[in-house]
Amino acid sequence: YKIAIAGAGAMGGRIGISLKQAGYDVELIDDWEEHVQRINKQGVEVKTETDVYTVNVPAVLSKDVSDSFDLIIILTKAMNSEKMMQRLKEAGSIHKDTAILCMMNGLGHGERLSKFVPMSQVYLAVVMWTAGLRGPGQLLLEGGGYIDFHRSDGIVDEQSNAILQLLNDANLNARVSDDIFKSIWSKATLNSVLNPLCTILDKTIYEFGSYEHSREMIIPMIEEIVSVARARNVELDGKLLLNKIEAAYPKETQGLHYPSMHQDYNKGRLTEIDYLNGQISAYGEELGIPTPINTLLTHQIHQLEMKIM
Ligand code: NAD
Repeated sequence: YKIAIAGAGAMGGRIGISLKQAGYDVELIDDWEEHVQRINKQGVEVKTETDVYTVNVPAVLSKDVSDSFDLIIILTKAMNSEKMMQRLKEAGSIHKDTAILCMMNGLGHGERLSKFVPMSQVYLAVVMWTAGLRGPGQLLLEGGGYIDFHRSDGIVDEQSNAILQLLNDANLNARVSDDIFKSIWSKATLNSVLNPLCTILDKTIYEFGSYEHSREMIIPMIEEIVSVARARNVELDGKLLLNKIEAAYPKETQGLHYPSMHQDYNKGRLTEIDYLNGQISAYGEELGIPTPINTLLTHQIHQLEMKIM
């Protein structure tokens, strides 16, 4: 059983080394040359709260991929997934039984991936682990987490069980979700609220939450998302989402962190805004549901990104 991690940055690295440590045949596929070179020369250097160690796992640039795989885990940034799929298709890496397991944040990935393979080969996951990169080939892994996933057409098949087994062999705490779209939309709501606001305002999650009117800012955003989700047959609980967002404010939880969008922007990298607020705004337009706040935030982030391009 051959596994590829397509997009082996922070999270791809975390999943990849965990599977490798569990004894699986894993290859990391990435486009960052320095990262790939260092991994092949020195292995992946892993730093945790208590330990530093090295995991040897082969890495390859996407332009040089030639193997075919039984499972391909997609962990590029959202804007690069289609380019990666195109490359893997051209390389003959995807066969008729290859499972494509999407672990990226954001909305609409099933539709995009099904341009390349039938829906029955696409599995969607929500990853509640975190991971960071300290430099090329150097991972920072802290905290616990879990993964929920399901085949995108709602069927549980043999591959689902195989995926469940291997993720759990790698201690990644996986579950076959009974409502994957609800989980995906819930995480996307959290990200769509905190990512752009903390980026535009240049605040940590704690600093954002300390403003006594932050609730007035985010409730209307959540309402827009709940309406769009409902029109797409996903029933979200706005109150529960608000509670989840506010649970991230304390310094003891995620408060001291800047969300990933803030980190990307400050490193001069493009953000995943089009797959969060931008996707909500696009769905809203298709469905005739107004999403003025999500649309405005999408444009504001794009304005900030003009400095990068
Ligand atoms: P990442 O930026 O670490 O890696 C994504 C890609 O960018 C990789 O191909 C990586 O090699 C490349 N990259 C990273 N730094 C680079 C640099 N300095 N120069 C050139 N290339 C570079 O992103 P990630 O955090 O692994 O995110 C992948 C997906 O997983 C995203 O959809 C993200 O939203 C999602 N996700 C991440 C986390 C997390 O904690 N990291 C948690 C849940 C979901």
